[in-house]
Amino acid sequence: MSECVFCKIVNKEIPADIIYEDEQIMAFKDIAPQAKVHVLIIPKEHIHSNLYFEGRHKPVIGHLILKANEIAKKLGIADTGYRLIVNTGKHSGQEVFHVHWHLLGGEPLGRLVCK
Ligand code: 5GP
Ligand code: ZN
Repeated sequence: MSECVFCKIVNKEIPADIIYEDEQIMAFKDIAPQAKVHVLIIPKEHIHSNLYFEGRHKPVIGHLILKANEIAKKLGIADTGYRLIVNTGKHSGQEVFHVHWHLLGGEPLGRLVCK
C-alpha cells in the first residue's frame, strides 16, 4: 500500500472533495485553501515531482492543463483569471511528493505564491 497521501486519495483510502476524475487524472479541493478557490490537479500515476516527468507523460501533461481550463470555467474563475502553480523540490517548499498543479482563483491573488 502506498504511503503517498495523494495516492491514498486516488485509491479512495482517504476522503477528498473530488471535483473531477477520469482514468488519468483527478482534481480535488485543497484541504487548506489559500484562496477562495484552491483546487489540486494531479495525474493518478505516482510521479514524485515535475522533474520526474518523462516524454511518455506528454499526453497527460497536456490533459492536465486543458482540464485546468475546464475546471476554472466550471468554477466560474476563468474570466477573472487564475494561477497555476507547480512547486518542485526543496526550495519551492513542495510538501507532497506526488506532482500536483495548484489552481488558485476567485479573488485577486496579489503576490500569493502558494507557500
Ligand atoms: P505543496 O506544498 O506540495 O506544493 O502542496 C501540497 C498541498 O497539498 C498543500 O496545499 C496542502 O494543503 C495540500 N494537502 C496536503 N495533504 C492533503 C490532504 O490530505 N488532502 C487535501 N485535499 N489536500 C492536502
Ligand atoms: Zn502518490
